[in-house]
Amino acid sequence: MTLTTYNSQITLMKILCVLYDDPKGGMPKSYPLSNLPKLNKYPDGMTLPTPKGIDFNPGELLGCVSGELGLRKFLESKGHTLVVTSDKDAKGCKADKELVDADIVISQPFWPYYLTREKIETAKNLKMAITAGIGSDHVDLQAAMDKKIDVVEVTYCNSRSVAEHIVMMILSLVRDYHNQHAIVKAGGWNIADAVQRSYDVEGMHIGTVAAGRIGLDALRKMKPFDVHLHYFDRHKLPDSVEKELSLTFHESVESLVKVCDVVTINCPLHPETENLFDDKLISKMKKGAYIVNTARGKICNREAIAKALKSGQLSGYAGDVWFPQPAPNDHAWRSMPNHGMTPHTSGTSLSAQYRYAAGVREILECFFDKKPIRDPYLIVQNGQLAGMGAHSYSKGSATGGSEEAAKYKKNN
Ligand code: NDP
Repeated sequence: MTLTTYNSQITLMKILCVLYDDPKGGMPKSYPLSNLPKLNKYPDGMTLPTPKGIDFNPGELLGCVSGELGLRKFLESKGHTLVVTSDKDAKGCKADKELVDADIVISQPFWPYYLTREKIETAKNLKMAITAGIGSDHVDLQAAMDKKIDVVEVTYCNSRSVAEHIVMMILSLVRDYHNQHAIVKAGGWNIADAVQRSYDVEGMHIGTVAAGRIGLDALRKMKPFDVHLHYFDRHKLPDSVEKELSLTFHESVESLVKVCDVVTINCPLHPETENLFDDKLISKMKKGAYIVNTARGKICNREAIAKALKSGQLSGYAGDVWFPQPAPNDHAWRSMPNHGMTPHTSGTSLSAQYRYAAGVREILECFFDKKPIRDPYLIVQNGQLAGMGAHSYSKGSATGGSEEAAKYKKNN
């Protein structure tokens, strides 16, 4: 449909936005903080999102259905249609029904709308899939390339939020915080119970699989704890960075896991990294090591992790990423011993939501104004991996098995 205005023709579009559910008690009436710290640039000098305007207050809940990423006023004022839903997995769900004539789909890694090849084939008008966050593995990138659907994400918007979460999880696993907190909440005071698995991180060997925005920031944030830092990546970091952080580079993931007490996983999920931490790789880890995975659940084999925690090959596993999402109620990671899992939250703090909502608005403004979208935001463009996608992903798809998400039943 087109709308003729005084001096131009605007093509009216349908935007489907799949977001997580509202809080059970309804949208917050107030927030703990009245404003967010002011940031202008990321550490490498890249600017934060710069849309022409925003229609929300930074620090508000934007990532859930009623938050609408703050987009409704902007889109409807231009005559476009915005449909927002959290109903995404079961057969006949609202997202699938709305997808068939949608021009743009926006989804989030926290509550991913798995755009499999089958779904993409029903979406005859689809031009672009936007990830409100980082990590577009919920889209069959090969199918998007074949159908010339562009895929974009808001690079850097929550990388530092995740790095903070990683530090929190490394400390909470090694010191055994979750167990200690549970003892207090249950009214207890047995200190021996509380400390029988509790250590200091000082002096430990901490390694990251991938030293991109998150991995490198996590290393920098861990440096003051007087630990030994290691990394494995497809490309070496500059010598100056290695020297600054006294980093040890490993040519292979096997070499890294052999010597590390704590391994944090920070690479994207794509065919090269899917199932990387399987029985074989975990058996090569230092006995009793810890894993913190805030990258993607599917990089770790579900059964292998649960088995290694039971046997003691791993002392702890924490992270916020699962496969699929939402995790089925009987997912083995919910009940395995010594885990510190959260739902997928590290990249959707209220601080991060401001940046990814503003980034989505910037992308949409560029798209409607036919202006180029920032190169670092591009994953697929014109049928090819492009921008960040060409650097960090490989061809193919990692969406297989995502239909299991329909097994999740809201029970609390
Ligand atoms: P970056 O693109 O900055 O970094 C990704 C790094 O992974 C790059 O250094 C890349 O290496 C490396 N890499 C890619 N493939 C491999 C491989 N096969 N082996 C080793 N390293 C590899 O992204 P971010 O650091 O910002 O984010 C990383 C991932 O974290 C995202 O893709 C997403 O999956 C996840 N994430 C999770 C969030 C959450 O809320 N839990 C939020 C944000 C991101 P090179 O450059 O050398 O090719």
